[in-house]
Amino acid sequence: NRAYNFCAGPAALPEPVLMRASEEMMDWQGSGCSVMEMSHRSTEIVAMTEAAEASLRRLMAIPDDYAVIFQQGGASQQFAAVPLNLAHSDDVVAYLNTGQWSKKAIAEAQRFTNVEVVGSSQASNFTEVPKAEEWSLPANTRYLHYCPNETIGGVRFNYIPEAAVPVVADMSSMILSEPIDVPRFGVIYAGAQKNIGPAGLAVIIVKKSLLGSARSDCPAMLDWQKAADNGSMYNTPPTFGIYLAGLVFEWIEAQGGLDAMAVVNRRKAAMLYDLIDTNDFYANPVEVESRSLMNVPFTLADSSLDKAFLADAEAARLLNLKGHRSVGGMRASIYNAVDESAVATLAEFMTDFAKRNG
Ligand code: PLP
Repeated sequence: NRAYNFCAGPAALPEPVLMRASEEMMDWQGSGCSVMEMSHRSTEIVAMTEAAEASLRRLMAIPDDYAVIFQQGGASQQFAAVPLNLAHSDDVVAYLNTGQWSKKAIAEAQRFTNVEVVGSSQASNFTEVPKAEEWSLPANTRYLHYCPNETIGGVRFNYIPEAAVPVVADMSSMILSEPIDVPRFGVIYAGAQKNIGPAGLAVIIVKKSLLGSARSDCPAMLDWQKAADNGSMYNTPPTFGIYLAGLVFEWIEAQGGLDAMAVVNRRKAAMLYDLIDTNDFYANPVEVESRSLMNVPFTLADSSLDKAFLADAEAARLLNLKGHRSVGGMRASIYNAVDESAVATLAEFMTDFAKRNG
């Protein structure tokens, strides 16, 4: 009775992962307890956390001079953790503004330090990203922050910004969807609830040389150094989230890793964009080279049909296609766990709906 779930987050998780978790729910690995009921200091849970980290390191080829941290609070908490760990109140930090999530990160950083928005696609209503030659960094910037994939606008960077300072990336909605050249980043962070696992968990991958300079007023819970020094167990970590993330990492490895994910993800996105571009009934405003591979927003030529579209989709068990309230229209989020057959089913539905209503 599983539906096709195109939610932007919390999003669909791989079915084999959910099945395994449900099989193990009452008795995790012969412990006689659920994984949620065990001490985070137990040998088993420490080993489980280390295994999840090792799997992520293999998947993303994370070098040894990077720490991997599991923290609670989701990606939004990292909007504050980034400036608190990397900048002091009289420093300058640089941000690229490509949509709603960039804006939130900027607003949070402004509470703690001086933000310069060095590039923005606001003028185009975030239907593109600033080109590399269109922006530059001011002197004495501590870091450059950007969002490689804007979940709401469906806009992605097709390049990694070059900077002489650490590049910090909010990869919440594209992590693990394709190979990532980790050494080009100072910090990568992501909320879990799209390609990693349950909401509330954040994964931070940080170059170790950037640890240890948090501001003195940085809360202990946000201090990456403290988290890294304590194996992500400064306090009681979200053990169930880490367990599930570990299962997802294992599943991705079994699929052939990030190269394999990228091939399938490109095919999935192409299926929808091809349909949207060749059918007058649908439109996507994002410039072609900046289109997201994970979040495909689209509008209907006649927006008075939006309600009918969503109702018919729901009847066909195609769920959560309503666009974000700030942009309207529709959005299909097609993360790793949304397989090709789900996307093909959506494409068929869209073609049929256009025929019936065009
Ligand atoms: N950044 C991006 C790109 C997102 O898509 C989201 C959530 O959808 C967030 C940050 C916020 O994540 P969280 O709700 O875990 O704080």
